Amino acid sequence: MMILTYVYRIKPNTEQVATMERWLELLRRHWNYALGQRLDCLNRTRCQIDRCSIVSEPIGEIPQTVNYYSQQAALKETKRLFPEYVQIYAETQQVNLQRLNKAWDKWRKPDKTGKRGGRPRFKKQGQLRSFVFPRVNKSRAGAHIKDGVLKLSRIGEISVVMHRPIPDGFTLKQCTIIKKADGWYCCRSMLDDSVPELLPVDELKSAVGIDVGLEKFLTTSDGEAVAIPQFYRKAADRLAQTQRAMSRRVKGSKNWEKAKQKVALLHLHLTRCRKEFHYQVAHWLCSKYDLIAHEDLNIKGLARTKLAKSIHDAAWGSFLEILQAVAVKRGLLIEKVNPRGTSIECFNCGSRVEKSLSDRVHHCSSCGVAIDRDWNSGINILNRALLAVGLPLNGCDQSIIDIEDQQVSFVSLGSPHHNL
Ligand SMILES: [Zn+2]
Repeated sequence: MMILTYVYRIKPNTEQVATMERWLELLRRHWNYALGQRLDCLNRTRCQIDRCSIVSEPIGEIPQTVNYYSQQAALKETKRLFPEYVQIYAETQQVNLQRLNKAWDKWRKPDKTGKRGGRPRFKKQGQLRSFVFPRVNKSRAGAHIKDGVLKLSRIGEISVVMHRPIPDGFTLKQCTIIKKADGWYCCRSMLDDSVPELLPVDELKSAVGIDVGLEKFLTTSDGEAVAIPQFYRKAADRLAQTQRAMSRRVKGSKNWEKAKQKVALLHLHLTRCRKEFHYQVAHWLCSKYDLIAHEDLNIKGLARTKLAKSIHDAAWGSFLEILQAVAVKRGLLIEKVNPRGTSIECFNCGSRVEKSLSDRVHHCSSCGVAIDRDWNSGINILNRALLAVGLPLNGCDQSIIDIEDQQVSFVSLGSPHHNL
């Protein structure tokens, strides 16, 4: 089973936009109120062992426990005191509290690996950008979707731009309404029960190792490389330019607001282009290979300094997530390997070939091979994955070893469709 999310643009009328804006603002205030209540309760009951009990004893009235259930129960009172909240669909308000509860638990309780999330934040005006209808197309659900029309309780019917149909075999789970810089969207989560079984290891016909990097987007163990797309650099330059322009304006002025909107639009554009590019690369890999190996970025991140952990890590992270989703959908295997030393080890003889970041060629003095350094990493990554699943190693392709200074060949995947 897997969950897919599809995002569609919706076309609300002016009145509906006003309603949805009001909901977002009310939900934002309620979020802040509920968060404040939790923090307050935490402060008053926190007891430090090394302190004298007089200091740590709660002063004044001992607060009742504040949790999701108490806050959920208090919704009735909220609606009595602030009748505007009656206008919001009840389940939507509950989900708002559930979201806070989730963020809170992430902060308070470490997960399996001992990691904890940051403290949930108070949201400034405009920072709450979405609300949820948790049930779709069920009897008495708040949201119904049929034939390109989204019908929301208390908001009415909104037409949807159906740029792609909802696939068969999916159950609609929930509907999130999102406000973005260029308009409104609805995001539908779907549960798929038709995902194929994973391919058994002994039926694998092709496998690849990929090395993600700063210079090229990725390099495969077959010596193919995908370049970092041009559009990305262009859009990033324009974004930086616009951000500089914005910083020159007087904060809060009309021109500042205009520049701010432009920055938001460029961000959105960049995110979309990147996502489309990531899907292109993922589909290309999944159409060629049954098993795809890559470095475990969690380990890689830990091994490096804070400074070196750049924005690229985030971009790779989102690419690897997309790759995973595409592969799972096709029943293909993804194998994460330990990244330690993949760029230093010689794929051919295993000797350590130390190199600096500027050395672009792996030249092994022990066995004499010379190939692109990322290609060498790609083969090492593949071999580690094959070892992990128990298949014979790939290495030692004579055609690689014989030729000096082997260069990778760049593949062309076409350019993205989004225009600025
Ligand atoms: Zn060697």
